[in-house]
Amino acid sequence: MMNTYNRTTFWTFIVWLVIVPPGIIYLFLNFNHHDINWLYLAIYTIFGFITLLYPIRKNGHPLFLVMWVTIPVFLTYGIVAEVIVMQFSVLAILVAFNNSISLINRFLLNSTLFFVLSIVSAAVFKLVGGEIGLLEFWPLFFVIFCYQFSHVLVRDLIFKIDSHFRKIPRNYIYNKTLFDYISGFGVIPFALTLYYLIEFVGFGAVFLLGVPFIITTHILRIYNNTEEINSNLKRAGAIGHGLSNNLTEKKIVDQFIEKVSELFNAECVYLFNHQDGWLELMRSYEKGEFVEVIFNRLSPGQGIAGSVLMRNKPIIYSKREEWERVSKNYAPDEMQSVLCLPISRDQNIESVLFLSTQRKAGFKEYHLQILEILCSYFTVSVEKARNVEEKVSQSERCALTKLYNYRFIEERMEYAMDRVNDGLLDELSILMFDIDHFKDVNDTYGHQCGNEVLQMFARILRQHIPQNGIVGRYGGEEFVFILPGMSKCDAKLLAEKVRSEIESYAFQVYPSLNNQIAPVLISITVSIGVSNAPEDTDEAKTLLSYADRSLYLGAKQAGRNRVAVYIK
Ligand code: GH3
Ligand code: MG
Ligand code: MG
Repeated sequence: MMNTYNRTTFWTFIVWLVIVPPGIIYLFLNFNHHDINWLYLAIYTIFGFITLLYPIRKNGHPLFLVMWVTIPVFLTYGIVAEVIVMQFSVLAILVAFNNSISLINRFLLNSTLFFVLSIVSAAVFKLVGGEIGLLEFWPLFFVIFCYQFSHVLVRDLIFKIDSHFRKIPRNYIYNKTLFDYISGFGVIPFALTLYYLIEFVGFGAVFLLGVPFIITTHILRIYNNTEEINSNLKRAGAIGHGLSNNLTEKKIVDQFIEKVSELFNAECVYLFNHQDGWLELMRSYEKGEFVEVIFNRLSPGQGIAGSVLMRNKPIIYSKREEWERVSKNYAPDEMQSVLCLPISRDQNIESVLFLSTQRKAGFKEYHLQILEILCSYFTVSVEKARNVEEKVSQSERCALTKLYNYRFIEERMEYAMDRVNDGLLDELSILMFDIDHFKDVNDTYGHQCGNEVLQMFARILRQHIPQNGIVGRYGGEEFVFILPGMSKCDAKLLAEKVRSEIESYAFQVYPSLNNQIAPVLISITVSIGVSNAPEDTDEAKTLLSYADRSLYLGAKQAGRNRVAVYIK
């Protein structure tokens, strides 16, 4: 069985084999132009090669300006020479073009693509009346415009079909298309100038125009980089402000990951949480969606993220070969470039952010600097959200036992009772607990020990609450279970179970009274009242008061340490 990668290469090779070599042979036999100056052609090829070797990049994808050389070649010597120069120049793409496809596959793809483009453009050129050696300006301009238009159009079409299958983001495609057309037509004046200069000046024209061309593209490249940094900085600022508007940590994390993926064209983004010395994968994002990835936690030094954690330093990899030795872990199939950095707060590494892309050399040093700014927005936003979340939880919970407080319990009671009354819930049971003679515990061992007992008591209650139930502290040593969907009979059984567990449990405390240091084991008991809706009432407050009433009348007055069910 061949794997996907080998199968792709195999079919690319077959397509190349069927199209390119026979095509070139056919062209040679039928269209050979005998006046080719091979020295000129070699010089042209060198310029074509250099043009493709250092492409100007717009948003990470290269612009193909090689036509400034291949058009004059085509106009002077015809299609055979053009195909030769183009095919040799394509070799430069092997070095410069950043994507994940292997070298051989990349060569085959580009060679086939540019061969087809040469044929299509030449055919269109002929179709609109173009002639090799044409010198009259406007007719020449018209046919070359058509030549170039068909070239860009077909290339764009092929790219769109390809991106459809590879699921490349839409905004990326739009940008690329726009710049392809602009650069496609922008190259025409250069091409025609070179062609005319060669006609009139001869060989020297290549240098007359070649040197300024290469200098111009170089300056453009620098300018373009600066512009890209500025625009990225602006976007990073906007993203940072957007983050701080969220009030939950989860929302901030998700938005941060989505925006980072978009800003840096990173197909995959992973966020690791640093906890107890380990890196735990917290959130993973691949090709536009959040995914669940099975990933063992990493120790410091293990894998790419682990070594970033250990060294507390960011790292950038440009291609697969650079990180393959480091990472033995899960990595997306076509991953090439990696940017990985620690996110710290107060000198501690809180998490590690991992970005990857299928493009080679996808991340630059300035990306890292922008990302660091973004990360500081991120940590500040997370901290703020955590504070808010804590405040909310404090207002819902009792500080001593961390159980829900009186207010929250009343709210949930109302909510559950509404559901019963609306027919969404069959029934609802309530347990009300009150510890027996708790005052004695305080009096004997001190208030602090009383508090410890209450904490342990709360822990036991938490162990007995069913999944959909809610446990709260209703008063000093009074607690409540809200049991949606539970029958009175089952509620009584549950109450009985808790009662007997408390009865047999030894509460260990360290009394501070009388300077006693040794721990003391205390036994306590609890009385419990049970009520149920709709059997007893259809009102939340009444249901609570019925549970309370059965607790006092049925359980406490009957001798304590017992469960009493409300009876009308
Ligand atoms: P019984 O319920 O069996 O009638 O007797 P009791 O001693 O438990 O009586 P009651 O419920 O009336 O008294 C509750 C006592 O619980 C009073 C108070 O000392 C104690 N208590 C209430 N809240 C706290 C608290 O937060 N910490 C401590 N240590 N004690 C508390
Ligand atoms: Mg009480
Ligand atoms: Mg009590």
